[in-house]
Amino acid sequence: MNIPNNSLNDKTTTIADLKKRIQAFRTKRGWTKEDPKDLALSLILEASELLEHFQWLTGDEVVHNTKIREAISEEMSDVLWWLINLGTRLDIDIASAFEQKLAKNSVKYPEKLFSPTMTEKEQTHEYYKIKAATRGGHPLYEPEKTRSENLEEK
Ligand SMILES: [Mg+2]
Repeated sequence: MNIPNNSLNDKTTTIADLKKRIQAFRTKRGWTKEDPKDLALSLILEASELLEHFQWLTGDEVVHNTKIREAISEEMSDVLWWLINLGTRLDIDIASAFEQKLAKNSVKYPEKLFSPTMTEKEQTHEYYKIKAATRGGHPLYEPEKTRSENLEEK
């Protein structure tokens, strides 16, 4: 198999470059009319393949295993493939969508609520609080006790 010699990298390759490469690959094979539903499904299937490499291992074991890291990088590429493919099929500008979502997340998770000086417990509490507010509840969210509830405990 003829494997290219790392002509792409995160610093210089754009999403447009990847879109072009994927479209060229697909066009040569006549793969241009898939149902977007199948593209979304393929994305999740590849994400599951990625997840499988973590099953029964700790994060540290994964980080330090060269063979697993290689397999993970292949699955990440598969996920990216289908994501870009779906973006092309639905005519969604992925970078623009990302920018808009980043702005929404900045509002949803404000820096003043998630400071690096907070404990993990404090951060988790705020996270579940937001999840509970946006989803109509969250099983791990424990609302703050009222003053009278605190006094009752004493
Ligand atoms: Mg795969």
